[in-house]
Amino acid sequence: MAMDVTFLGTGAAYPSPTRGASATVVRFEGESWLFDCGEGTQTQFMKSHLKAGRIAKIFITHLHGDHVFGLPGLLCTISLQSSPATNKLPVEIYGPLGLRSFLCRILELSHSQLAFPWVVHELVPTPDQCPAEERKELSFVDGDKVSSEEAPGKTLRLDPLEDSYTLVDNSQFVVKAFRLFHRIPSFGFLVEEKPRPGKLNAQKLKELGVPPGPIYGRLKDGATVVLENGTTIFPSDVTEEPLPGRKVCILGDCSGIVGDGAAALCYGADLLVHEATLDDAQADKAKEHGHSTPQVAAEFAKLCKAKKLVLSHFSQRYKPAGQTGEGDVDVMELKRQAERVLGGQEVVLAEDFMTIDIPMKKVTIASPN
Ligand SMILES: [Zn+2]
Ligand SMILES: [Zn+2]
Repeated sequence: MAMDVTFLGTGAAYPSPTRGASATVVRFEGESWLFDCGEGTQTQFMKSHLKAGRIAKIFITHLHGDHVFGLPGLLCTISLQSSPATNKLPVEIYGPLGLRSFLCRILELSHSQLAFPWVVHELVPTPDQCPAEERKELSFVDGDKVSSEEAPGKTLRLDPLEDSYTLVDNSQFVVKAFRLFHRIPSFGFLVEEKPRPGKLNAQKLKELGVPPGPIYGRLKDGATVVLENGTTIFPSDVTEEPLPGRKVCILGDCSGIVGDGAAALCYGADLLVHEATLDDAQADKAKEHGHSTPQVAAEFAKLCKAKKLVLSHFSQRYKPAGQTGEGDVDVMELKRQAERVLGGQEVVLAEDFMTIDIPMKKVTIASPN
């Protein structure tokens, strides 16, 4: 199964002609999941090879405008372009507490009605995810009855044992959220593919006298079978090692992580997308605004042994490589800063419309000794 990640917006604070506001798409088998939806995301979709109508799930890291202002417009345009819903599954939207109210109010005030079913699932942050002076009591949230949702969404709370939130758990994927520290509560998301069953080993099937037929399918699906001669065959007798699933981690704005959940979940990630709003020389300013520098991002990637680090969410002062004009700051310096921490391991700078393939993993055959 092909799986890839496309960056539609890699800029911080606001969209510009060279960098859109935050939006990242994870795609597999024709389905798209959108992570953040800054202003202008719908036009970024139109300029790309992706189709907004394929979005099945949306994940919002935090409620700053550069991550969410594009959402009502995008949903309304998808609605205009979609055929009337009959048996469509709802578009599932996940994000911090307050997101439902934001969407319901804006759709109500603009007299917009979406032609497809949708539902918002809200994550309840913990108080340590932002500075004390920024904490707001969202008193209006619970009393808000202006819901145009088809079905009421879930309220997701932190699982203290795992230090994470479970958002999706289906036959193919698990999606979890973990806590980040920012000016307002922010989250990171883990998308982990479930292990794929190993192939049947024809030689072993033959040796054990398993007759061809539906029995093969049952063994491949993990069922134990008893042959007519009374021999019990366990799936592990005749299948190769399961193929490990792929792991993509996308972090929202942050100056650091909260708790131990993030590092544990992101361990061994095939792709880790981390913000680097400013370069290392401006570390104090970055921290003050709740942001990271390449060093912070690379240290986290090192901690969780990520296979590939992608930096994104750059201040608009960093034009994409090759588009720098006089007086512009060279974004390549951010790459160098992160690579120094990672001992030379290559770091990728995200650019709008860049797509990264996440190849399927091969089983590593353990050496005999
Ligand atoms: Zn931002
Ligand atoms: Zn932010």
